[in-house]
Amino acid sequence: MSNTDFILAIEDLTVSFDGFKAVDKLNLYVDKNELRVVIGPNGAGKTTVLDLICGKTKSTSGSIKFKNKELTKLAEHEIVRAGVGRKFQTPSIYENLTVYQNLEVSYPRGRSVWGSLLFKRSDDVMTRVYKVAEEILLKDLLDMEAALLSHGQKQWLEIGMLLMQEPELLMLDEPVAGMSAKERDQTADLLNRICQNRSVIVIEHDMEFVKKIAHKVTVLHQGKILAEGSMDKVQADEKVIEVYLGH
Ligand code: ADP
Repeated sequence: MSNTDFILAIEDLTVSFDGFKAVDKLNLYVDKNELRVVIGPNGAGKTTVLDLICGKTKSTSGSIKFKNKELTKLAEHEIVRAGVGRKFQTPSIYENLTVYQNLEVSYPRGRSVWGSLLFKRSDDVMTRVYKVAEEILLKDLLDMEAALLSHGQKQWLEIGMLLMQEPELLMLDEPVAGMSAKERDQTADLLNRICQNRSVIVIEHDMEFVKKIAHKVTVLHQGKILAEGSMDKVQADEKVIEVYLGH
């Protein structure tokens, strides 16, 4: 497989903060329809890698190619438009809008929240809202105010808001933090559905959850890849046990 066949190809990516290399000559390749989980101890550089991909942090050197398009020189909104969606740990939904409205305002038409709400509902938007609501298990709660959703449902709603933009790569930071066991299982099913036609990168600490979702695991340590492969392979790796899993 050549590097141009990957949906995401990161090569020699480095970022230094005052001389400290948080990410150090990283090479990372993600396939189409792959669900990759990134694990590693605190401070390993996991969040910084996602920040670099979505343009929140600018690299010192190296390359990030998404569908063969170089992202390192693009602004955050251009990276979103290229098809990369990022969800942070804290949900940023509109609590006083309904589930429907939250999804509706996320339809990409470059308007303000209030402008989007006033905009006449087109069939296109409605079709997409219903499709996404079904995918995120909220189709029966479309008229509910978002504030009344459970913690897990709020996380799914935010994932749905990203799906409204039809990303081809979705990046999620600890998506099941604070969720009940049932919600964790439902989230695993949701992510498995999502990656049937998109790629997903997840940062996660919950190893039981990682086992349920990961196609491949990348273990980061001190800004570099310590191990990579199937969950079984990285779990058995002595270096990984020493710096992370053994603790
Ligand atoms: P992880 O997500 O694996 O816990 P991070 O990516 O958050 O790790 O951080 C990696 C290292 O980079 C940490 O030592 C952190 O303090 C440092 N770091 C991250 N962002 C910045 C920044 N903007 N300025 C200075 N140091 C940073």
